[in-house]
Amino acid sequence: MAKLNFKYGTVGFSFVDSAEECCKTYAEKGSTILFIKTTAKNKFSEAKSHESLSDANAENSAKKSKTKNKIDLQKFEDVEVVSISAETNLVELFEEKSHDKKIDVVVVEDAQLCTTIQVENLRKISENANVFCFGLKVNFDTQLFEGSKRLLEISDSVQEIKTDCRCKNKATMNAHFINGFLTFDVDEEKEGKHTYQGLCYACFKKELRRTNINNQIVKYLAIFKDMDTAGDWSSDTPMDNVILQKPFVIYDEDVKNFVQDFHEFEINNPEKMIVVPDNVQALKKISVKDQSFDYVMSLISYVIKMERIRPGMLKELIEDGTMTKWLRQIKKTISE
Ligand SMILES: [Zn+2]
Repeated sequence: MAKLNFKYGTVGFSFVDSAEECCKTYAEKGSTILFIKTTAKNKFSEAKSHESLSDANAENSAKKSKTKNKIDLQKFEDVEVVSISAETNLVELFEEKSHDKKIDVVVVEDAQLCTTIQVENLRKISENANVFCFGLKVNFDTQLFEGSKRLLEISDSVQEIKTDCRCKNKATMNAHFINGFLTFDVDEEKEGKHTYQGLCYACFKKELRRTNINNQIVKYLAIFKDMDTAGDWSSDTPMDNVILQKPFVIYDEDVKNFVQDFHEFEINNPEKMIVVPDNVQALKKISVKDQSFDYVMSLISYVIKMERIRPGMLKELIEDGTMTKWLRQIKKTISE
């Protein structure tokens, strides 16, 4: 009895290669094969096929593709390769192709891009031929692809193809980066260098934090760079019977937003919190050139906390460029 099979994994694994490998195996056994290529709806699938993965994975993939000979499916007489669109009726296609010769096996690459109806078509086809579907389970937003969802629901056999994360744990997430930072933007035409990588959840979380720091903290680099005044000193008028408040700074909206954004990041090792002199002049002299991300984050955290005790510290450090220097170092550490 023929079966509907789904083999899935994450980016970093070449489904195109394994689909072709499967095809080759059956072709050599003398089976007649219909090889279906789905039309990429977006760059996501193209990018992974071209192995444009970032960092370590890219290197591995490059090595792999050098050693691996691309299978020439055309050389097998009984393999017919057909590209389909989202509108193609697969049952009709199958019937048309099996008109002259019985088709034994159907192989689908990038099966995640099939529509629900097409997967149901494949289910129907599996009454007469073995169907092997290869593809991703979820997209970079951890949502099931339309095709994968239906395949998981109705396949006779579902097999996970293990892909290694860069830390060697199992990759479960498909990460989409633009210019080295994670994105959940579905607009794949967005400007910038797009890369994709299969990651484990822990590495994904790290990337997410790095990305959030870039989006929420490093963005103030551009704002503070040209800021002349971070805020104005309050000028309380003394009144009878009122305890005079210490002077404080009424900060610019951008600075207030910076403080708020900064609070969303817990400092990694607060117990290792650096000991810093509590005067502005000494703070300015601290060289952050070779300092770690945590160190610089701790410095900023310290200044924000000290603002209550020593008002104006933040103002002075923003206005004299020290904060810009610190943010530049943060940018450097997260880009490494
Ligand atoms: Zn990992």
